[in-house]
Amino acid sequence: MPILVLPNTLDASVEKLPDVGTVNARRLAKLGIETIRDLLLTLPYSWDRYTPSPISSLTPGAQASVVGTIVSIKPITTQRRRMRLVEAMVADDGGAQMRAVWFNSAFILKQLHEGDRVALAGIVDKNRFGGLAGMVNPRHERLGGDGQAQKVGGLTPRYHLVEGLTARKIAGWVESALPLAGQLEDVLPVEVREREHLLEVAGAVRLGHKPETDEDFRQARRRMAFAELFELQAAFALMRASIAAEPASAIPYQQPVIDAFKAGVGFELTRAQRRATWEAFQDMSRTLPMNRLLNGDVGSGKTAVAAACAAMTFAAGMQTVVMAPTEILARQHLHKFRTYLESTYPALKVELLVSGLSAPERRRVRTSAASGHCAVVVGTHALIEDDVEFANLGLAVVDEQHRFGTRQRELLRAKGSGRPHFLAMTATPIPRTLALAVYGEMSLSAIDEMPPGRTPVLTEVIEPADRDRAYTIVRAEVSGSRQAFVICPLIEESEAVVAKSATAEYERLQRDVFPDLRLGLIHGRMKDKDEVMKRFVAGEIQILVATAVVEVGVDVPNATVMMIEGADRFGLAQLHQFRGRVGRGSAQSYCLLLSDDPSGAANERLALVANINDGFELARQDMRIRGMGELMGPRQHGLSDVAMHALEQPDLLSEVRQEAERILESDPGFERHPALKAAVARRLELTSIS
Ligand code: ADP
Ligand code: MG
Repeated sequence: MPILVLPNTLDASVEKLPDVGTVNARRLAKLGIETIRDLLLTLPYSWDRYTPSPISSLTPGAQASVVGTIVSIKPITTQRRRMRLVEAMVADDGGAQMRAVWFNSAFILKQLHEGDRVALAGIVDKNRFGGLAGMVNPRHERLGGDGQAQKVGGLTPRYHLVEGLTARKIAGWVESALPLAGQLEDVLPVEVREREHLLEVAGAVRLGHKPETDEDFRQARRRMAFAELFELQAAFALMRASIAAEPASAIPYQQPVIDAFKAGVGFELTRAQRRATWEAFQDMSRTLPMNRLLNGDVGSGKTAVAAACAAMTFAAGMQTVVMAPTEILARQHLHKFRTYLESTYPALKVELLVSGLSAPERRRVRTSAASGHCAVVVGTHALIEDDVEFANLGLAVVDEQHRFGTRQRELLRAKGSGRPHFLAMTATPIPRTLALAVYGEMSLSAIDEMPPGRTPVLTEVIEPADRDRAYTIVRAEVSGSRQAFVICPLIEESEAVVAKSATAEYERLQRDVFPDLRLGLIHGRMKDKDEVMKRFVAGEIQILVATAVVEVGVDVPNATVMMIEGADRFGLAQLHQFRGRVGRGSAQSYCLLLSDDPSGAANERLALVANINDGFELARQDMRIRGMGELMGPRQHGLSDVAMHALEQPDLLSEVRQEAERILESDPGFERHPALKAAVARRLELTSIS
């Protein structure tokens, strides 16, 4: 045991703890754990409590542990799927046998041998084993002399993990950090804690990591969830107050303007679009700056809503700026805004500002914006970097808002003389409760309806052994002059590794599967991503191989196949996002989900995507599943799963909100609550909330 050198601050890197080291610190960082404070505050998402059961009494679907002797253990390759696994037969003291299989885990053969006494823990599965009880990827432990299981029996914490970490390792590091728990500042004011009957932070951390009863764990989690949501809501309350302090120019509602817009836009607005437009107009007609998030599926028609707002702004004699994350998206916006607006309002000029333009062209656009000659400027980061000035900015719009940091959005807003109204758009459907929890400073408009005339995308879960069938579909579509995406699996590795495996997949497909077709590759490490997307949009690339890190948020109506490798590793909402990239035209499109994990649970999740087409509904399902902690990565939407889980309780959020507002009212700026003040500041800095 190395000598414990305790760093004296919670803000120190986890690397300072014994036995962590740089490599593990990097792994922990992937889980959002960078400092010792983070480590302490990240409770296990659940606990396993096992007492061994006789094999004869195992019930399918239930979690169980078994103690027995290994009768045989060997590597096998399945015939149908050609997958490599390790298979063991285990007999318990009553003589009953069960089977255990591990996928892609050849190392098991080094750890367990015939004749070993073992404890196994996992979910009991009967269907896959021809009526015999079995476990897929059970946790295992070889038992020593006393026959007592250490990690498989008893109470075992379950922490979220990435490659290279085990719950046991994390538990060890937490153990060495626990003496510091007493230094944790409590963000919850005493009065809130008392009113809500919540534990103090240090106590909650100790109980949460090392509970003796389920009730301990429940209390600890409740306290941590409440505090996290409270911190966020306090931050939002502060933001709302600061936004309210600086007025915007009112943009009066004018009926003829919207009438003309509707007549000229070229289609009938959906009910959801009309409602969102109306909500935005109401906000804009006030001097309290609008701060609204437009949340709607890919293809739900958010741009038309933004364009209607730009028209109203123009009619009030003011300008609109629209920022998109990539040049190609900015160009698509330019095109849409022009189509939607320029024929109806001949004096309304829409201009583009991206870094790819020539210097004279950029100068011309800057002049046009500064003189007030053009009403709408669409662009990328270049809008901020180029120091564009507006004569009279009334409205700032940000598309794919999660792609921009707080500072970038602030800089965009600072382009007006007063505070412009602000409209953010996101294509990630979020259930309302979750949205209120993580975007609490914004008002929400949900576009939960698709324009008519779309052919729903046919979604199919394809077994890895049937991969050839997926390729046949891709080939058939491409032969019919269509295009396809192939998304590479999400891997928990460095960008370099991701890029490398995507490159290998691209080369394999080009060489072995589609030698006669034109393939392209796009990944996060490439400089000319925009260039590749342009070639795909232009049809020069027929099949685009992309890593999951590259958001392909671009309109390519001619693309009709979205093939996703390793689909089981993605969240449902994310799969839905990918699917939204096809089916944009009227032709039938396909989404093919290939899963590496043949377990029932994974297939069930994927079946949800296949059966549900509504992004909001899928997001709710995703949240339900993720709320349970399983499979989910850390801090989706900047929220821990402990907090996410707590949100399932219907009144919690409004309670938290009230408490936060109450404190802010009695203590504007949180001066009398330094721990809260610091936590709020950290939030505002860290999260991408605007
Ligand atoms: P997103 O919400 O993903 O930004 P877009 O605004 O790009 O969606 O709209 C997707 C496509 O649907 C565009 O081609 C747009 O012109 C079209 N569209 C938008 N609203 C309607 C509607 N109400 N009826 C028919 N087509 C529409
Ligand atoms: Mg869009």
